[in-house]
Amino acid sequence: MLPSCEPYKIKMIEPLYPSSREERELWIKEARYNIFNLKSDQVFIDFLTDSGTGAMSDRQWSAIMSGDESYAGSRSFHQLKDTVKELIGFEYLLPTHQGRAAENVLFSVLVKEGQLVPGNAHFDTTKGHIEFRKAIAVDCTIDEAYDTSKPHPFKGNVNIDKLEELMRTSSDKVSFILITATCNTAGGQPVSIENIRKVKNLADRYGKLLIIDAARFAENAYFIKTREEEFKNKSIRNIVLEMFSYFDGVTMSAKKDGIVNIGGFIALRSKKIYQEASTFNIMFEGFLTYGGQAGRDLAALSQGLHESTEFDYLESRISQVAFLGERMKSYGVPVQEPFGGHAIFIDALKFFPQIPREEFPGQTLVVELYKAGGIRSAEIGSLMADRDPVTRENRFPALELVRLAIPRRAYTNNHMDYAAAAVGQAFEAAQNIRRGYRLISEAPIMRHFTMELEPI
Ligand SMILES: *Cc1c(COP(=O)(O)O)cnc(C)c1O
Repeated sequence: MLPSCEPYKIKMIEPLYPSSREERELWIKEARYNIFNLKSDQVFIDFLTDSGTGAMSDRQWSAIMSGDESYAGSRSFHQLKDTVKELIGFEYLLPTHQGRAAENVLFSVLVKEGQLVPGNAHFDTTKGHIEFRKAIAVDCTIDEAYDTSKPHPFKGNVNIDKLEELMRTSSDKVSFILITATCNTAGGQPVSIENIRKVKNLADRYGKLLIIDAARFAENAYFIKTREEEFKNKSIRNIVLEMFSYFDGVTMSAKKDGIVNIGGFIALRSKKIYQEASTFNIMFEGFLTYGGQAGRDLAALSQGLHESTEFDYLESRISQVAFLGERMKSYGVPVQEPFGGHAIFIDALKFFPQIPREEFPGQTLVVELYKAGGIRSAEIGSLMADRDPVTRENRFPALELVRLAIPRRAYTNNHMDYAAAAVGQAFEAAQNIRRGYRLISEAPIMRHFTMELEPI
């Protein structure tokens, strides 16, 4: 059998500047060791996020030119509505400017003070929009998700016993059940259809809505096809349709599997909820047929959804992420397994066991990867975990991870080779680094975006 490769070729390129280590040491110091303060021109390979950083196709760019900018009734809206109906089977569509806006609008209808929203490790903006309404996001992910070395094909799955227990004791407080697929917070880990069916069964028994946070739905469908026996001969489109058939509503960040640079939507089956959400959409996002997006953006999104649900694309995408993971492993780098759909996670406590957690080993690793190869990654550890809101003590989560998120269709496997070698080099020199960083300024919440550090 021949190896798989990208089902596309490159028509336009964007130059990158391969800086020297000396330049990078100066720039990261000027940035106060906060990777968000770097100018993108100071970054060689940008693995900060896979959100809105993908490359659009020639067909998406031509869709941009044919976008209809009518305030109401835009042709591009109707195109997108037809695509959503065809691919995921939902009747009612509300465009929004990105994923968190979809959460804001839908939760304005569904979430009330004091309620519970159980699910599998809610994404941070999702949790934010729940907690902002004084409700509680209850994490019911399976325990395997939090053990980086334990193999499990669907680490994004919901722990059914835990969810059932919660429903039995407090279903009157539950607003709805939310499944995030793939589960970003658990490392881009997928959810199986078998698990979705069980959750749906519980939701029905207790008369609750089941909502999907669908940012990476296509990558999730690929894992279902390749890991869930029942679906190995089904097409991605069939799997996607079946997956969504269990849900009552969708919030979507189109910056991921929509392969656009900005955009999102809500999709619903209930006319009543659609009508209630429409009012909030008009207030927060814009009229119902554009919702914060230009007509051309809606047109590019419609095309992007068709492209992201093609098997050959998904195979090359997810194989590239795994390629980076395997290359890093060949240098002995401690990475989370199985690899997720959109990112590789490094276990910083195994990379820098000598650095105390108070000195931020995750962020120390982020800085070292930047110095080594101009690679921008993200700390998912104690800096991001912030301080306890009451005691103001630093919080130390179970895992101290560094995420390398791979933009869609933007880099080649040569870039992955280069990045893995740079990480490998940093790993070889890791025992020479004895100390980490101390905070010199931080915001009261979400400190990782704006904090400033100095080396100890
Ligand atoms: C990115 C993301 C969101 C939020 O979407 P934005 O487009 O960044 O506002 C919500 N849920 C998940 C799982 C995401 O990955």
